Amino acid sequence: MTRRGHVPQRQCAGCGGRFAKHSLVRFTVTRSLAMVDTGLRGEGRGAYTCPDPDCFERALRKKAFERRLKAAVDAGILRHDFEHLLITLVKNGKKANLRDSKGV
Ligand SMILES: [Zn+2]
Repeated sequence: MTRRGHVPQRQCAGCGGRFAKHSLVRFTVTRSLAMVDTGLRGEGRGAYTCPDPDCFERALRKKAFERRLKAAVDAGILRHDFEHLLITLVKNGKKANLRDSKGV
């Protein structure tokens, strides 16, 4: 669903679609390592994916985090944090696709 308007949009590093910034998961750089941005700082370099493991894995495979964040990626840590964030989102009633659900 695409709406025009005042909502800032960002591109998903996985599927390449553009979505409202607040509906995406943000990644940032901490000590030269790509990390899930769980705070609301929104500072510095950022990359985004849909709250969907498919988009996340695609972004990993494309090395989109390395390129966009210009940082090293520890896939194990990043995947763990991403999945943890999705669970938190779902608990809070937000939209997110957990591992066993179908992506769009
Ligand atoms: Zn996506």
